[in-house]
Amino acid sequence: MMSTARFLATAFAVLASSHAAAGLHVVATTPEYGAIAAAIGGDKIAVATLAKPTEDPHFVDAKPSHIVTLNRADLLIEGGADLEAGWLPPLLDGARNPKIAAGAPGHIRASEGIQLLDVPAVLDRSQGDVHAAGNPHFMMDPANARIVAEHIAKVLCSLDAASCPAFTANLQAFLAKLEGKTKEWEAALASFKGTPIVTYHPTWRYFAKRFELVSDVFLEPKPGIPPSPPHLAEVMRKMNEGKMRVVLVEPFQSRKTAEAVANRTNAVVVDVCQFPGGLPGTKDDYIALMDADVKAIIAGLSAQK
Ligand SMILES: [Zn+2]
Repeated sequence: MMSTARFLATAFAVLASSHAAAGLHVVATTPEYGAIAAAIGGDKIAVATLAKPTEDPHFVDAKPSHIVTLNRADLLIEGGADLEAGWLPPLLDGARNPKIAAGAPGHIRASEGIQLLDVPAVLDRSQGDVHAAGNPHFMMDPANARIVAEHIAKVLCSLDAASCPAFTANLQAFLAKLEGKTKEWEAALASFKGTPIVTYHPTWRYFAKRFELVSDVFLEPKPGIPPSPPHLAEVMRKMNEGKMRVVLVEPFQSRKTAEAVANRTNAVVVDVCQFPGGLPGTKDDYIALMDADVKAIIAGLSAQK
């Protein structure tokens, strides 16, 4: 029989070697990029994610451990379009890792190649607008997830050519599943075409465009600015006038505010999330997350019929 101490030593040795065998160390700023990278990289990469799924991606709590993670990374995937502008730059400076510096082969800006919505004619952050460079929540459209997945696979192949056949096979499997599910989501939402949804933050603009819902009313007066009583009064007036009957809220937004608005407008609050792991059963799985969001939104809209 192996002694406990020897067993543990062996276990750690196995863990250490499997860690080394994992190959590229990939860091994602937010969980949907981490989930897609893991789906493509499989056992050829090790993935770490900086933001929690229950954290506001514009205001992530930067920790010393993030700097250590970034220091050891071979590849960084960020959303770009200013999503991480408030917290990533100092972490990157602290990490001193040329492999993932801006412009390096190991730095992916997911927004590259994406048609951004809400790009203002004039860049203006003076009033605290966190979408001054356009709306960075493009991953809520599965067509954009496809573009980003292809982008990630291409860069993984460039960093580890020997594993490229595996990356390519995993990418094809992911895209095939995504395409099939997108058809299901389109069919499930088809009868709600043109229906308005009210959301806390303009997170669902790309989702609404893809599935032909209308997302023009937000509890925040400007992206990143907390709701004010005069603004909420205006929102409730629009909701009553336009018969808007659902308010979408994410784990890191004020459900209390959403409930107060819904209670006075005969609407229902729908719990959604833009990140895998932010809803039950969606951890590390972008497609499962979208599936859960579609189901939650349909349940909310159906409750009003
Ligand atoms: Zn935002």
